[in-house]
Amino acid sequence: MSFDILHIRHDFPILDVTVHDKQLIYFDNAATTHKPRQVVDRIVAYYKKENCNIHRGVHYLSTMATGAYENARKTVKDFINAEHPHEVIFTKGATEAINLVAQTFGRKNIHQGDEIILSEMEHHSNLVPWQMLAEQKGAVLKVIPVDEQGELEVQHLKSMITHRTKLVALAHVSNVLGTINPVHRVITLAHEQGIPVLLDGAQAVPHLEVDVKELNCDFYAFSAHKLYGPMGVGVLYGKEKYLEEMPPYQGGGEMVDQVTFQKTTYNKLPYKFEAGTPNVSGVLGFEAALKYILDLDLKKIHAYERELLDYTTLELLKMDAVKIFGNAENKTAVISYNIGKIHPYDAGTIYDKLGIAVRTGHHCAQPLIDRFGVPGMIRASLGLYNTIEEIDRFIEATRQVRRMLA
Ligand code: PMP
Repeated sequence: MSFDILHIRHDFPILDVTVHDKQLIYFDNAATTHKPRQVVDRIVAYYKKENCNIHRGVHYLSTMATGAYENARKTVKDFINAEHPHEVIFTKGATEAINLVAQTFGRKNIHQGDEIILSEMEHHSNLVPWQMLAEQKGAVLKVIPVDEQGELEVQHLKSMITHRTKLVALAHVSNVLGTINPVHRVITLAHEQGIPVLLDGAQAVPHLEVDVKELNCDFYAFSAHKLYGPMGVGVLYGKEKYLEEMPPYQGGGEMVDQVTFQKTTYNKLPYKFEAGTPNVSGVLGFEAALKYILDLDLKKIHAYERELLDYTTLELLKMDAVKIFGNAENKTAVISYNIGKIHPYDAGTIYDKLGIAVRTGHHCAQPLIDRFGVPGMIRASLGLYNTIEEIDRFIEATRQVRRMLA
């Protein structure tokens, strides 16, 4: 092992929980990751010693909390290599980040007959907001298909783009298939026609080094809670030129400059998009999570996860009954599969009895599940604290599921 996994596991107290008298094996990291004590401690410290509303006071606590919050913005900016801190907008998650773009950029720029290009592997969070906008505006959604291997059929993109195309919104990594999409190619093709690209990075940031400048994407959305940080915090990165032109998302305190009953002028970036009291403790916990994974070294984490992915895939494929959905050449440590004709929910119940948390169902990507013609899938998604020993117990449990239900 390239890093000290036992030491790391000590940082995650929840891994000691027992489930049905068995030690928990947590393979549902794509839904949410657990939080190291450094993150929990940061949140507790904020409420014990620093709690205050930000940007609004001249007194000590408010100044301290404001400084800490804005520092966290800089940490996120560095983490994704954005050009400016004000290109980082704090939201409550990837979902809100995408809705923000739909209801600001989208409402302003997308009209009757215009087109938004998505893919068949989108999470509902990067589908429904566009569908809602399309309904409001009379716009059209176009969908890049996915092949049997779970790869994006990107060769269709060029012919799908027309003079009515106003945005491409695409998952960087699929939450079901683990596929890492060829986003450079997509961005180049879209930009050749002057079309901006939004990447849903919710499943990418935990497994890849993301550099928004190098990607040259126009928007990038992700959530802290899938990155060992707290729930209720996320990020919208947007290029300054787009954010400047976009109208505000929600109205309220903080996002304003001057207010009269006749007219309101809006605050500068990033505050224009951060109406109301933000989740300060969450943002500070998120910063602690980023520091935690950066200390461990992203390259080491990703190499370790690759080992876990390869081992799990190899062991699962030794069972004839197992069919894995998503065999892309470039994929992250997410494995969706079925065991013969066993219903995923039935399998999930047995795994649970054996102390193993896997996800079952449509994984908030119903059109993708329909594309593969199955009622649902079982999904094992791995994180930096999982081990080969856990995978061995999981494989043995998979055999047991098959024996009991086939
Ligand atoms: N996109 C993808 C690919 C996801 O996996 C998820 C979460 N499952 C989301 C968006 C939405 O993230 P959140 O619920 O944290 O807003």
